[in-house]
Amino acid sequence: FAGDYVAPSNLLKDKIILVTGAGDGIGKTAAKTFAAHGATVILLGRTTPKLEMVYDEIEAAGGAQPAIFPMDLSEARIENFENLAEAIDQEFGRLDGLLHNAGLLGQRTPLTSYNFSTWQQVMQVNVNAAFGLTKSLLPLLEKSEAGSVIFTSSSVGVKGRAYWGAYSVSKFATEGLMQVLADELEGVSNIRVNSLNPGATRTALRATAYPAENPKSVATPEEIMPTYLYLMGDDSRNQSGKHFSAQKR
Ligand code: NDP
Repeated sequence: FAGDYVAPSNLLKDKIILVTGAGDGIGKTAAKTFAAHGATVILLGRTTPKLEMVYDEIEAAGGAQPAIFPMDLSEARIENFENLAEAIDQEFGRLDGLLHNAGLLGQRTPLTSYNFSTWQQVMQVNVNAAFGLTKSLLPLLEKSEAGSVIFTSSSVGVKGRAYWGAYSVSKFATEGLMQVLADELEGVSNIRVNSLNPGATRTALRATAYPAENPKSVATPEEIMPTYLYLMGDDSRNQSGKHFSAQKR
C-alpha cells in the first residue's frame, strides 16, 4: 500500500515539479511537501495572493525558490499552455513532475436540473485543461530522466454516484486520459502516468460537498502525502497506467 511509503528527505532533490491548484487544499500541501523533499516547485493557480503565500511558506521553510504561474484554467487556451511550457523551458530546460490537482466541484444536483454552463466549466477545468497542459508540457517531461505525471481522481471517477454530475463524469474522463496516455508512452518514453484518488480529505472542496460532516473526521492533506511522494519520486519508476488510492478506507 503506497500510503505506507516513507520518503527519504532528499527524495525529490533537483527535481522540477509543477502543481496545479497549488494555492489551497491538497495542492498547497503537495507543493510544500515536494519542496520540503528537495524539489523546485512551480505553483500554478488562479488566485495570485494564495500562490504568493505558499511561495513565502516554502522559502521560510528553507526550500528551493519556487516559481509562480497565475492561470485561470477555466479560461485558459492552448496558447496559455504553450507560453507556460516556453517559460519553463527557458527557466529550467525540463520538467520532472506534473501534478494535475486543480479541480472544480460544480453542482451537487440531479442531472435533470444540472446547469449546462456549470457542466462545461467543470469539464473545462477538470479535463480539458489537464489535457491541454499535458499536451504542451510533454516535450519538457521527455527531457527528464524519469518524468512523472499524476492525475487527480476520485471514488466517483471509478463508480458513478447520484447527484455528483459533471464532477463524477470529469473524473471518469480523467481516468481515461491517464490510461490512453500511459498506453501511448509505454515502452517508448521514460514518462510514467498514473491517477491518484486522495480519498476524503479536509479541504474547502470537501466541506462544500459534505456540509454536515465534521471536518475533523476526515484526513488532513498532510496525512495523504506519502502516496503523492511515492508517485512523484523515483521509487515509482516502474509504475504506469495505474489507479492509486491515498487512503485505505
Ligand atoms: P480545493 O477546492 O481545496 O482546492 C482546489 C484548488 O484548485 C484551489 O487551489 C483552487 O484555486 C484551484 N482551482 C480551482 N479552479 C481553478 C481554476 N479554474 N484555475 C486554476 N486553479 C483552480 O480542493 P481539494 O484540495 O480538495 O481538491 C484537490 C483535488 O483533489 C481536486 O482535483 C479534487 O477533485 C480532488 N479530490 C479531493 C477530495 C477531497 O476530499 N478533498 C476527494 C477526492 C478528490 P483557488 O484556491 O484560487 O480557488
